[in-house]
Amino acid sequence: MKLAQRVVKLAESATLAVSAKAARMKADGIDVIGFGAGEPDFDTPAHIRQAGIDAINAGKTKYPNPASGLIATKKAVCERLRCDHGLRYEPEQVIITSGGKDAAYMAIHAVIDPGDEAVIPAPYWVSYPEMVQLAGGVPVHVHGPEQNDYKLTPKLLESVITDRTRLVILNSPSNPSGVTYGPDEIRALASVLQNRDLFVLSDEIYDRLLHDGQKTLSYASVSDAAYRQALTLNSASKTYAMTGWRLGYAAGPIEVIKAMAKLQSQSTSGAATFGQIAYATALSADQGVVETMRAEFERRGRYMWQRLTGIPGVRCPKPTGAFYCFPNVSATYARLGVTGSIQFASRLLDEARVAVVPGEAFGMDAHVRLSFATNMEQITKGLDRLETWIQRCGQPKK
Ligand code: PMP
Repeated sequence: MKLAQRVVKLAESATLAVSAKAARMKADGIDVIGFGAGEPDFDTPAHIRQAGIDAINAGKTKYPNPASGLIATKKAVCERLRCDHGLRYEPEQVIITSGGKDAAYMAIHAVIDPGDEAVIPAPYWVSYPEMVQLAGGVPVHVHGPEQNDYKLTPKLLESVITDRTRLVILNSPSNPSGVTYGPDEIRALASVLQNRDLFVLSDEIYDRLLHDGQKTLSYASVSDAAYRQALTLNSASKTYAMTGWRLGYAAGPIEVIKAMAKLQSQSTSGAATFGQIAYATALSADQGVVETMRAEFERRGRYMWQRLTGIPGVRCPKPTGAFYCFPNVSATYARLGVTGSIQFASRLLDEARVAVVPGEAFGMDAHVRLSFATNMEQITKGLDRLETWIQRCGQPKK
């Protein structure tokens, strides 16, 4: 059977693959600790669930109109962006999408032509390079130095920009590293980018999950020039524990949003109507629920990071946002007899029943990603197993 080349070349999402394998093992009755999934373990808060139920009961079950998103939801997004970042967006500058992934996919397809380059700092979220390639573009990876927690410096960023660069993708706080660019760092990157003819996809889906007083800045708020090139992306998934609702948005220049709306009108016809109504409630209601979840992630993140950095041979940037630790475990590879992160993760799952995601999927084979979006009991148990496994496997062979 002949399949289209662009799909044959596509990599399966490594994060989803690990979750699927761990789920199969669990279904077989094996006690697996899952650090693989990038989704909050909390339920969607009650008032948001109720808004969705009420919307269904009120008959809000027809096609979303317009397909690009309900006006009420777009207005709620504009208000959130104003409150959180002092940004002024009009509803016409916003598209409501089926998750942040859909927003990224359409934004990339709206601005990338075959041969265009997209700068993607590593470690990167698994889907960016695949999306760029699907659009015919060329992903250009750039690695920040370890001593800067893998964050880009302006100089490094400048060194990879060419005449063909159409897009730069920024993701702060980062999946997979949990590392966040501070306001001055965002300004410094903007000083390199803001007067160039390119777009900046600023994936800010973890912007409400910051730890230890970390501050950040929305790229679009740096200057008028940055605002004109910014495609600001966000989602209901992580902020409101709504991964399964599939809701997100992009805000940016009207022409790009219109192009994305065209794509959406020919693909999904928009995000589910009642879900959008619940999302509007999530965005506009009291934000206390976000703080409760954030504080819990902070507590778990601190614990996981302390435990990981206590294991000989493991180095890890401190997570200042999101819910991931991204330790460099490569100093253990020789002792464990593994060649890279895929083998490391596979053996860890088979031998210690702990699921992590190989760093290779994020462009850094020396690392693995552990999500702390799971309860403390699981985290403690999983880290005990990981530590024991590394130490046991590290014993010289008889
Ligand atoms: N961007 C980043 C950086 C992510 O980590 C994710 C989810 N893992 C997404 C976008 C997409 O999330 P969703 O489609 O659930 O909104």
